[in-house]
Amino acid sequence: MIQVNNVTKKYGSFTALHEVNFHIRKGEFIAILGPSGCGKTTLLKLLAGFMEPSSGDIHIDGRLTASKNRIIPPEKRNIGMVFQSFALWPHMTVYEHVVFPLRHHRHTRDEWKQDMVARAQHVLKMVGLEQLFDRYPSKLSGGQKQRVALARAIAPLPDVLLMDEPLSALDIELRMEMRNEIQRIHRETHASVVYVTHDQGEALAMADQIIVMNNGKIEQIGSPEEVYTKPETAFVASFVGKCNMVKGKWHQNRFVPNEFPWEQWPDIGIADSLKQQGLCPVRPEQWHMTGHKGEGLKGTILSVQYQGKEIHYMVEVENENWTVHQSVFQPKYRIGDTVSLSLKAEKNIHAATL
Ligand code: ADP
Ligand code: MG
Repeated sequence: MIQVNNVTKKYGSFTALHEVNFHIRKGEFIAILGPSGCGKTTLLKLLAGFMEPSSGDIHIDGRLTASKNRIIPPEKRNIGMVFQSFALWPHMTVYEHVVFPLRHHRHTRDEWKQDMVARAQHVLKMVGLEQLFDRYPSKLSGGQKQRVALARAIAPLPDVLLMDEPLSALDIELRMEMRNEIQRIHRETHASVVYVTHDQGEALAMADQIIVMNNGKIEQIGSPEEVYTKPETAFVASFVGKCNMVKGKWHQNRFVPNEFPWEQWPDIGIADSLKQQGLCPVRPEQWHMTGHKGEGLKGTILSVQYQGKEIHYMVEVENENWTVHQSVFQPKYRIGDTVSLSLKAEKNIHAATL
């Protein structure tokens, strides 16, 4: 169990992390999700022990590992790290990359130290690189390089695997494939994983828990389904999956959008914090769209994008642009058409479409 208590990190006068609190259970897969510059890498470096917090502390399995005055360095912890840039050593072969931590990691099991070849072969097999054991990094593709970085990190079987945007340098197909690999490796090693990403799809697909960050602060912590179906802040609603933030007033459990006082929408599980701000988040797939004679908010189609299974519309409603996703089996509209938007009333519709 890793416990992060009130951790603040300042670079000079700039505060990169503000009083961050969370914990990670053994074997859990945590994603730290947020836009560029929000403090994700800073948080990962603190977890690894590369630097000390300005205030607050970090405990691992009940032991104080980092505070302002005391820090246990990375080499004394049983962690593995994978970086966006791969950070491979150009003069070492694939095999040597995997053997290096086995030889130097103080937590490597004795049996593996005694038979490093067997352990290296096992790990290279896990990541599908057993055939390429004698290649140098310059002769590897991006995906193969990232597999080497992954193999190097997991070889000594770390308790915690820290990954900083490990897939962002890869193309989309490889990213999808590597997602599965990383999930499988997580299952096989039972390591806790802290996975930093700015890609909400990755976080939703892979993590047990997502920590959503913005401007050095935690906005929300929850399971993928919780942060998607019940965002607690406007930031989470729009960052984790696209969301239209409709402004209006909440009267108990009924929402009345501004400009459309005759409309009343039911509460489909909106967080209190958003209600207090007079907001109703609506996912693109949650709109019910009908023609100009239909009921609801009147708008004009601004753009139409055919996406195979769905059609994505941009609809202008009272000077705001809403994104609407409709199945291709629903009536189709063209640019300039007047349409009516209402809310599909089913409870938890998000969950059904996740
Ligand atoms: P992320 O990984 O989410 O993109 P970082 O943790 O790298 O964000 O950075 C958070 C903020 O702290 C950014 O505004 C960045 O410019 C700043 N920052 C990061 N490292 C340093 C540093 N060594 N000195 C000063 N500012 C830094
Ligand atoms: Mg970063």
